[in-house]
Amino acid sequence: MTSRADPSLSDVLAARECIAHLIRPTPLLAAQELGRQVALKAECLQETGSFKVRGAANMLLSLDQKERAAGVVAVSSGNHGRAVAFVAAGLGIRATVCVSARVPAAKQDAIRSLGAVVVVGGTGQDEAEAAARRIVAETGATFVHPFDDPRVIAGQGTLGCDIVDEAPEVELLVVPLSGGGLIAGVALAAKGLRPGVRVIGVSQDRGPAMHDSLAAGRLTDVVEEDTLADALAGGLGPENHHTMQMCRELLDGIVLVSEEEIAAAMRHLRHAHGLRVEGGGAVGVAALIAGKIVPTGPTVAVVSGGNVSDETWERVTG
Ligand SMILES: *Cc1c(COP(=O)(O)O)cnc(C)c1O
Repeated sequence: MTSRADPSLSDVLAARECIAHLIRPTPLLAAQELGRQVALKAECLQETGSFKVRGAANMLLSLDQKERAAGVVAVSSGNHGRAVAFVAAGLGIRATVCVSARVPAAKQDAIRSLGAVVVVGGTGQDEAEAAARRIVAETGATFVHPFDDPRVIAGQGTLGCDIVDEAPEVELLVVPLSGGGLIAGVALAAKGLRPGVRVIGVSQDRGPAMHDSLAAGRLTDVVEEDTLADALAGGLGPENHHTMQMCRELLDGIVLVSEEEIAAAMRHLRHAHGLRVEGGGAVGVAALIAGKIVPTGPTVAVVSGGNVSDETWERVTG
């Protein structure tokens, strides 16, 4: 893989201009019941049902005509694939999305219905990534990494700009964390624009790849287990060029939440806010409800996605 430089704040600001036409404004909702000055950034209402469209749009719009003609290949736990498929369809780019058999059928169907080819293989993200790399090697298509790419990180960082614009007084950001593209971009933007803001990541306790890798000081394999936070499942992959180092430098902490805590947060978001939120999108709220993060000033919790099957939604929150 070619290794590019980490993104900068100016890359995030440029991304914001570049992707604006593909992004919906999402509401910032007061949530006093979680703390006097807590608000929720409802990216579950974003185009494609998650923030991932931000990074996918910035990445695909950066491709030249030749690269666009050769198509793109993504590996995904669901939401990145859907975002890539959506943006690719709009640009007339052929998209292939590799998923593991663990990825919920509803998410696979959503990707197919946008016209992308879905390749199902293996029981985890790492195997799906290997399949994607093989297709890239055979076809000359461009690999669209779900998190470890400066263009993707800069795209996700546009969410940090939006939050700081809408809540200029913010002191603490609570952000769902898996591969770290979202939180690295958001922290880069928020800390660049508001020095002194703190950023805390939240992961599921079943296989928290970034948490374990930072604790060990090296890339660490996780055992992929079933979790309500399916969007956060999977390892960091065989190599990491950007997000691990950026998380090491930019994060003020990582908190882990249990399945029960995630379920409680999904129920809360439904009944108190009328929001349909998937497990991975609810982990920040889960940490606040569980008292694992105590807001001491103006706080924004990112609610990162809403793509949950009807069956899981009713079972957990009904
Ligand atoms: C991908 C995803 C995340 C985590 O993003 P990373 O960049 O991998 O840390 C969080 N929430 C949802 C809903 C996602 O789809």
